[in-house]
Amino acid sequence: MQEIDLRSDTVTRPTKEMLQAMMTAKVGDDVYKEDPTINALEEKLAKMFGKDEALFFPTGSMANQAAIKLHTQPGEQLICDKWAHVYNYEGGGVSFNSGVSCKLVDGDRGMIKAEQVVENINPPDFYHSPLTTLVCLENTTNKGGGACYDLEDIKEIRKVCDEHQLGLHLDGARLFNALVKKKENPKDFGKLFDTISVCLSKGLGTPMGSVLIGDKKLMKNAIRVRKVLGGGMRQVGFMAAAGIYALDHHFDRLAEDHRRAFEIEEVLKTLHYIGKVENVETNIIIFNLREAEKEKEFTEYLQKHNIRISNMGQGKWRIVTHLDYSEEMHQRFQEVLKNASL
Ligand SMILES: *Cc1c(COP(=O)(O)O)cnc(C)c1O
Repeated sequence: MQEIDLRSDTVTRPTKEMLQAMMTAKVGDDVYKEDPTINALEEKLAKMFGKDEALFFPTGSMANQAAIKLHTQPGEQLICDKWAHVYNYEGGGVSFNSGVSCKLVDGDRGMIKAEQVVENINPPDFYHSPLTTLVCLENTTNKGGGACYDLEDIKEIRKVCDEHQLGLHLDGARLFNALVKKKENPKDFGKLFDTISVCLSKGLGTPMGSVLIGDKKLMKNAIRVRKVLGGGMRQVGFMAAAGIYALDHHFDRLAEDHRRAFEIEEVLKTLHYIGKVENVETNIIIFNLREAEKEKEFTEYLQKHNIRISNMGQGKWRIVTHLDYSEEMHQRFQEVLKNASL
C-alpha cells in the first residue's frame, strides 16, 4: 500500500521531467555570480514581480532572515502576526541574526489589519521603547491554514508604512498558491512590498530553494548578508533549473491542490468524529477532533492505512495537499476518513 504523506507540501520529490531539466542545466560558480541558470531564474522572478533584482537562497527561512537584516538595525522592532513563521519557526533568527524584537499582533488566521499596525508602532521620539522599522506579512498564512490576504488590506498597510517610514516585507513562502487562488497579478505584490520571499520547494515541488525579490537600493547588500549567513553556493544552477521548470509547469496546477483540499474539507465536515474545520482557502486544512482523547486512536488508524498528517499540538491537525498527492490517493484518503469508527 503506497504511503500517502499529507504532512506538508515540502515532501514532494522532483518529477522525471524536472530531473531532466536539472540534469541538462548549464551551471557555473554562483558565488562569482557566474551560474547562468541561477541568473536566469533570478531575472525571471524579478521580472515576474516587476522588481529590479532577485537573489536565490537555500531556504525560505534564510531569505526571510536576510530580508529582516536588510531592513533593520540591532535594537529595532518589527511588527508581525502572533502566528508568523518569522517569529515561530525560524529558530529565533530575528533576534539571533538581526538583534531585532517582534511586536506580535493578534490577527485573524495569521493576517493583520492596518489599524493594528498603527496601534503597534512605537512613537519614534520616545527613546525608551525600541524603534519600529519593519512590518512582516505572510501570504498565504501557514499556521492560519492557507488563508489569503485581500489586496485592499495590504494597500492600507502599505499606506501606514509610508506614513511612518516602515519597511514592508512579505513572507511569500506560499504566495504562488494565493496568486492562483485569487487570480492576482504578481506585479501588484511587487508594487506594494519592498521585499518578497518566495519558496520553490513548497507547492511548486522543487527539492530546494527560495528567492528574495526587491529593489536595487535594498538588495545591494543582500548578497553580502547571504554570504554571512552561509548561503553562498557554487554550481547551484541545477536547483535553479528545477525552479524554472516548476514556474513554467507547476504553477497553474496549484488549483488542483486547492480543489482536493476543498473536497477533503467537505468530507471532514460530514464526519461525526471531527470537530471544528477551519475554512479552507488554498492547500492547507486545519481541523480538530471532536474528542481530544481520541488523538492516539486517530493516529494509529491513519498509520494502519499508511497515511501521515501533522499533529500541530493543542488539538490542531494539519493536512497539506501537493504535487505528489495523486487523484488515486485522494480517493483512497477520503474513503479511509469516511470508514473510521472513532
Ligand atoms: C516553509 C515556510 C517558510 C520557509 O521555510 P524553510 O523550511 O526555511 O524553507 C517560510 N515561511 C512560511 C510561512 C513557510 O511556510
